[in-house]
Amino acid sequence: MAKPKMDIPLPRFPEPDTEPFWEATKGHELKYQVCDDCGGVVWHPRRHCTHCTSLNLSWKTSKGEGTVYTYSIVRQNYYPPFRERIPYVVAWIDLDEGFRMLSNVVGVDAESVSVGQRVRVQWEDKDGLSLPMFTPA
Ligand SMILES: [Zn+2]
Repeated sequence: MAKPKMDIPLPRFPEPDTEPFWEATKGHELKYQVCDDCGGVVWHPRRHCTHCTSLNLSWKTSKGEGTVYTYSIVRQNYYPPFRERIPYVVAWIDLDEGFRMLSNVVGVDAESVSVGQRVRVQWEDKDGLSLPMFTPA
């Protein structure tokens, strides 16, 4: 009997706090939240403002452009779906709208990634969702 194919972990629904984010990824839109009371930018998606605890948050769409804040090149991973990707770049990306997200820089030689490098979002379609990755701008 064949073993089921292992794949990268994906969110499971229902997930009320992040579901609007994942729904938007299907249209390749990178959503984030802004607080209606204090104007703070909130990332990652959640129920309350991380600046003032308000529950009044609005969804905005990022242009998907930013810079590499820092990164690491992963050269070992024994989990099969990730092992196939090595070497790969895990990076904190500072989006131009003012939030920092953890993602991958893809489509480029890992050794060529650098701090401060301009990147833009690129989507990896996966099982009805799309994962936001980044590639050099
Ligand atoms: Zn707030």
